[in-house]
This record gives sequence, C-alpha cells and structure tokens, in this order.
Amino acid sequence: MNGAVFPAIDTSTLALARAIIQLTLAGLIIWTGSRQEQRAGTHWWAAGLALHGISLLFYLVRYAPLDSLITAANHLTLGVSSACFLVGFWRFGHRPVRYGLVALIVAIPAVSLLVWEWWMPIARWRILLTASSQLIFLAVLQAVLASAPRREMAGIYRVLRACTVAYALLLFWAYGSLVELLPNAARVPPGYHGVLFSVGSMLFLLALAVGALALQYAQLACGHADQARTDWLTGLLNRRGLAQAADEMRARRAATSTSAVLALDIDRFKAVNDRHGHAAGDRVLRMIAWELTRRAGPEAVVARVGGEEFQVLLPDTDIGRANRCAESLRDACSRLEVHTGSEVIRPSVSIGVALLGRDEALDDAARRADAALYRAKTAGRDRVEIDPAAQPA
Ligand code: GH3
Ligand code: MG
Ligand code: MG
Repeated sequence: MNGAVFPAIDTSTLALARAIIQLTLAGLIIWTGSRQEQRAGTHWWAAGLALHGISLLFYLVRYAPLDSLITAANHLTLGVSSACFLVGFWRFGHRPVRYGLVALIVAIPAVSLLVWEWWMPIARWRILLTASSQLIFLAVLQAVLASAPRREMAGIYRVLRACTVAYALLLFWAYGSLVELLPNAARVPPGYHGVLFSVGSMLFLLALAVGALALQYAQLACGHADQARTDWLTGLLNRRGLAQAADEMRARRAATSTSAVLALDIDRFKAVNDRHGHAAGDRVLRMIAWELTRRAGPEAVVARVGGEEFQVLLPDTDIGRANRCAESLRDACSRLEVHTGSEVIRPSVSIGVALLGRDEALDDAARRADAALYRAKTAGRDRVEIDPAAQPA
C-alpha cells in the first residue's frame, strides 16, 4: 500500500462513524425545519442523509449468507438517498420535481444489481452502471443548483456546485481506476479505492448536510428580513422596505432617467374610524393598498409609510406620466365601496406628485411630494397636486 501518500484508514470504523454523524445531522435538519413556516424540501434532505447513513450500516454487516441481500440493500438505499436529495433541492427552490430523473437514478442501481449481480455476476459492469447513476445524480444536482431561489442564498449554492464538481471528478477517478478505464499511471494506487471513496463520499455528504443547514438558516434570516420591511396590515412595503427598494431602483436605472414619487393620504380617515370603528378603517386601508398595487403598474413600488399614508415610486417616469398615474389612482380609490353592515364607506385620497432626480435622496423628493399633498388637502381633498419644481415649463 502506498502509505506515503495515503494515510491508513479503517473504512469500517469510518463507515460506522459516518452513519452516526449523518443520522445525527438528519435529525438536526428536521429540527431546524420544524422551527420554520417554510420547510419545503427539508424532510427530503434529512431522508437523503439518513438513508445514506443506513446504507453505510449495511456495509458493516459481515454475515456471508446475507451477503447478496446486504449488497442489494446498500445499492438501493444509495439510489433512493440520491433521489431524496434532488427532490429536496427541487422542493426548496419551488421547482417541479422531475419524476423521470428520480426513477432513473433509483432504477439504474436496481437494474445493475438484478443483471450483473444475480443474473450474470460481472462485478465490473455492476460497478460501472452504479457509478454512472451516481454521476447522473451529480450532473442533475449541478443543474438544480444553477440558480438559487433567493439572491441571499447564491453563495451557498455556488459552494455546493463546486463540491459537486470536485466529488464527480473524485468518483470518476476512483471508479475509472477500479474498472481499469484510466491509464495505469493515472490510477488510484491498488487497494485504496475504498479509502478514497469513503473519504470523498464523507466530505461530499458533509458538504450537503452543512449546505442544507446553511440554506435553512438563510431562509430563516430571509423570512425575518422580509418581515422587517413589510407592513403586516396591508402586506405592502413599509418605510424601511421602500428605502431599500429605492436604493435598488437607483442602482438599476440609467444615469439620465428620472423617477416620480407620489405621496397619498386618505381623506378624513379619522372620521371613518370614529364613525365605523377601527376594524372598518383597517379594511379601508387594505382595500386601498390592494387598489394601488393593482393600478400602479408592474414597475411601481407601493409602500405604506404611515397610518393612512402611502408612497408610490414610479421608475423612469416623466411628470406627464406621473400625473396621469396619480389621477387614475385617485379615481380608482374614489370608486371604492367598503360595506360595513348597513352602511357604505366611500373613501377618497389626496395625492402630491414630485420628480426624483437620478442622484437625489428619496426623502428630499418625498418632502416636495408631501408639500404638494398638503396643497391638495387645503384645496379641498380628493385631488392631485404637482410639485411646482416639476411642473412642465
Ligand atoms: P385628512 O383628510 O386631513 O388627512 O384627515 P385625516 O382624518 O385622514 O387625518 P388625521 O391625520 O387627523 O387622521 C389620521 C387617522 O388615521 C388617525 C388614526 O386613527 C388613523 N389611523 C392611523 N393608523 C391606522 C390603522 O392602522 N388603522 C386604522 N383603522 N386607523 C389608523
Ligand atoms: Mg395623514
Ligand atoms: Mg388623512
């Protein structure tokens, strides 16, 4: 044995240690998943890890009469475990599960067992076929990991992709040497396939387990970040969310483009609450939020920035378009009818419009839009006023 290059490793002890670690990590993944509302995929990852751990336990059983059965159980659990990981990533990314590929990855080791273990026992073909199903699994996994469901998770996906490539190369080397596909000089030293395979597979499975845990925590963090920028009553962005959206919009926009800011305030809303109660007031807020989202256009950013105050950001918009949009929002809100028992609330909104320069802070433009809104209020409400600085000459 080539002890100078490879340390001597007892693969049976390693398999037992791995099985225990993998089963523990599977439990940890399930526990972390149970802390989250959004747990798509997590049980599949845990099942993949646990089944792989169980397949390692089969490897430890040394009882000749059961050899064939143990080899079968080992192959099959390995195939099903790979399929579970894929389903986990599909589910986690909210992508459709590709059942054809799942069936292929489970069927190849099963067929290879039937044909090359029991019908015509040729170890070389059995190993080659089973290895090919692992390589198919890694290729599909590589494709599934190509795009992360959230920007915040892209780094974790990139690391997992790199681990997948490294493991595929290692498998190719180990199996290629074993079945003598590779030239002599490039082969794994004799007797070390097992060590190379055990260590490589351990590192890859650990990478998958740690990656799965990291993704779960990233998802938890994303959920909290989403909550921190969302208004719970209407589901719109809050002031913090609006500031972030404005920064992102500025980063995307061309240097010359201007945007518009609309400041909206519901008219005489205190009277609505006083007369119909707070719950009815909340319904009005939700309906107006829904109407603004529906009518402002797909590019617009709509936020609730105070009690009954909203802001709408319109990217790449001149004053003419901003004014038309404001008029249509005002008109739509004035047509709303909110029924409360025998009475009907017909709300209205006043709107101030200002332009936001390319490098201008949102707060500065919002202040001018607020001043225009104040003029709309004093001029009688249910109307749109434009910031004088933005008026066409
Ligand atoms: P104006 O036309 O001048 O805007 O009059 P207004 O009554 O709308 O203005 P004012 O600022 O005096 O009152 C705003 C009211 O909005 C007061 C408050 O009770 C109500 N409000 C603020 N937040 C909420 C909320 O979350 N739910 C409900 N139902 N009411 C809210
Ligand atoms: Mg107000
Ligand atoms: Mg008001």
